[in-house]
Amino acid sequence: MKIMNIQDLIRPTIKALKPYSSARDEFQGVTDDMVFLDANENPFENGVNRYPDPQQNKVKVLLSKIKSVPTKNILLGNGSDEVLDLIFRAFCEPNKDNVITLPPTYGMYEVLANINAINIIKVELSSSFEPQVNKILEAVNSDSKILFLCSPNNPSGNSFKVESIETLLNKFKGLVVIDEAYIDFSNEKSWLERLSEFPNLIVTQTLSKAYGMAGIRLGVCYASEEIISIFNAIKPPYNVNELTQQHAIKRLEKEDEVTNEINKIKVQRKLLISELEKIDFISKIYPTDANFVLVKVDDANKRYDELIQKGIVIRNRTTQPLCENTLRLTVGTKKENEILIKALTDLSGLTKQ
Ligand SMILES: *Cc1c(COP(=O)(O)O)cnc(C)c1O
Repeated sequence: MKIMNIQDLIRPTIKALKPYSSARDEFQGVTDDMVFLDANENPFENGVNRYPDPQQNKVKVLLSKIKSVPTKNILLGNGSDEVLDLIFRAFCEPNKDNVITLPPTYGMYEVLANINAINIIKVELSSSFEPQVNKILEAVNSDSKILFLCSPNNPSGNSFKVESIETLLNKFKGLVVIDEAYIDFSNEKSWLERLSEFPNLIVTQTLSKAYGMAGIRLGVCYASEEIISIFNAIKPPYNVNELTQQHAIKRLEKEDEVTNEINKIKVQRKLLISELEKIDFISKIYPTDANFVLVKVDDANKRYDELIQKGIVIRNRTTQPLCENTLRLTVGTKKENEILIKALTDLSGLTKQ
C-alpha cells in the first residue's frame, strides 16, 4: 500500500479553517417526535419546510450498499461539478498550484481550474486516446496537486488501461481523480474496489448518466475518510436539497430498474454501432465503454448542420485535440437511434453493402 501525507497537500487556509456549524450539525439525535425550534424554520408542514439532512445519510446508506463502500468514504454534491470544485478549493492554492488534464477530455476540469486561478498542465492522450504515462510524469512539478483521469473518457468513450492508471497512482505525488461518470456502462471494473490501496485516489461518479437523474443534480465522491472529512469541512452545509435526496432515495431503492435500463442502452449501443458501420461518410467508429459513440466523418461541421436541419442534435467535437471531424453520438432509445440512423442513411445516399 502506498504511504502518503495528505495533510501536506491541503491549502494552508483550509487546514486552518473552522467550519460553519449548522443547527443540524450541533444536534444530531433526530427522531420524528421531537420539537425542533433550533433552525428558524417555518413550522407549518409542506414537505420542504425543514432543512435537509446535511450529511444525506439515507442516500449514502443506499449508495454504500450498491457500491460496497462504507458511508464514511462518501461525499455528495450538487452534481459532479460541485464535487470537482470542492477538490480544487481544498487542495489547489490560487496562482500557485497546478493540475494536469489529458485532452481531449471533459471540459469542466479546465473551466474549474480557470475559475479557481489554478494553472493547467495539458498532456494530450495518445492517438488511441490512452494516457502517455511517461510524458505525464515528466510534465508534473512540485506544485502539481491533482491529476484528472476520465475513464471511460469523454468524448472518446474508451476506458484507460489499468496498468497506466496504476502506475500514475503509484508515481504521482499528488491526488489522482478518476472521473467515472460512465462507469456503469463499462465492462471494466470500477476503481472503487481499490480505494483503500491508494490514499491519493479520489473516484467521482454521478447520478446524471446511467442512473437517469441529470435533473436532480447529484454527484458522488469516494475517497479515504481523511479526504472526505476535508471536503465536509468546506462544503456548503445543506448542499444537497431535500427534493434531490428524496428522488435519489426512490431511485436507488429500485436498483434493478436502473440495471435494466443500462442493459437496454448497452444493447442499443451495439446495434447503433453495427448500423453506423454502413454509413459511407463515417470513416472511423472509436471503441466505446460509455453511452455514447465518437465517430470520424468526412466533414463534421457539415454533417452536424445537416442533422440539425433534420431535428437531431448531436455533439460536434471537431475543435477538440485529436478529434478533427468527429461527432459524439449519445445512445438513445431504440426509436431515437432508428431516427438517427435513417437520417444518416438518407444523407449518405449510398450505404456500404
Ligand atoms: C456528464 C459528466 C459528468 C456529470 O456531471 P454532473 O455535474 O454530475 O451532471 C461528470 N464527468 C463527466 C466526464 C461527464 O461526462
